[in-house]
Amino acid sequence: MKETRKTKQFETIRSIITNAGRPLSIDEMRKSALEELDSIGLRTVYRAVRRMEEMGEIERIKVQGMAERYELSNIASIHHHHFHCTSCDSLFDIHGCPGGLSELLPKGFTMDSHDILLTGKCNFC
Ligand SMILES: [Zn+2]
Ligand SMILES: [Zn+2]
Repeated sequence: MKETRKTKQFETIRSIITNAGRPLSIDEMRKSALEELDSIGLRTVYRAVRRMEEMGEIERIKVQGMAERYELSNIASIHHHHFHCTSCDSLFDIHGCPGGLSELLPKGFTMDSHDILLTGKCNFC
């Protein structure tokens, strides 16, 4: 009985992440889960996320000053960037990259990677 409930909670979180179409925070996952389940604790959401991370299904996105978001590994593995809506605090994927950033480097510098975060208002706000 207890196992069944746990499995259901895990599968709910997993399908929420899979179907979100954008990176989600723990709070967002819990909010969506509560539309399907009577109750789910933050710790349960964290546990499901840890498990999916360990299985290599999702990856953590760290953006300075923001709660961590998680996205599917098959999306994370393709180079892309994010848009942060400052009104509703949602993060969205931006597919594509301007490139050519190494031209900005001071002479003699080399670049290993880059991060680009666009901010503004999404079309829901
Ligand atoms: Zn928004
Ligand atoms: Zn890029």
